[in-house]
Amino acid sequence: MARPGNKIIQAKLVLLGDMGTGKTSLVLRFVKGQIFDNQEPTIGAAFFTQILSLSEATVKFDIWDTAGQERYHSLAPMYYRGAAAAVVVYDISSMDTFLRAKKWVQELQGQGNKILVMALVANKSDLESNREVDVQEGEQFSEENGMFYMETSAKTGENVNELFYEIAKRLAKAF
Ligand code: GDP
Ligand code: MG
Repeated sequence: MARPGNKIIQAKLVLLGDMGTGKTSLVLRFVKGQIFDNQEPTIGAAFFTQILSLSEATVKFDIWDTAGQERYHSLAPMYYRGAAAAVVVYDISSMDTFLRAKKWVQELQGQGNKILVMALVANKSDLESNREVDVQEGEQFSEENGMFYMETSAKTGENVNELFYEIAKRLAKAF
């Protein structure tokens, strides 16, 4: 139940990052609590909604996932339009996806709309033994770009809800 002073925030959230980094898996984990299953890369557009209730606000997320267009290393302007939050994902076991994440951040910053909250997500933390990207590298890049950093695993669920709660909290402050 809404309490006095409890804001309702509707926020568009977009996911960016190379194909195969786990964007769709993260969203499904968050939205459906889905049991992990090695999935085929996404085919078809995807749009999800999820509501998080915090003490300070209720955040209604409109989550935009790609339909595989990230293959072309660029997304249509309408994908970004009006987004309040952005999540840039890479895979800790692939340096290449981290280097590409930097390009995704540039693409995001080039959109000219006011993104309030940006997260840099180092996914597949369960693949620690194959790690190619150090925590420190991710943290440093996120700091330089006004993002917050989080390591997640869509496979084990580690930090997935925490990621979206952190975004919601920051949005509640920013709105
Ligand atoms: P997307 O192309 O960025 O949407 O990536 P997907 O969500 O389709 O995931 C690509 C592949 O990585 C799939 O085989 C997933 O099962 C796998 N995957 C996604 N997240 C994780 C994770 O946290 N750990 C591991 N080990 N595999 C993952
Ligand atoms: Mg996908």
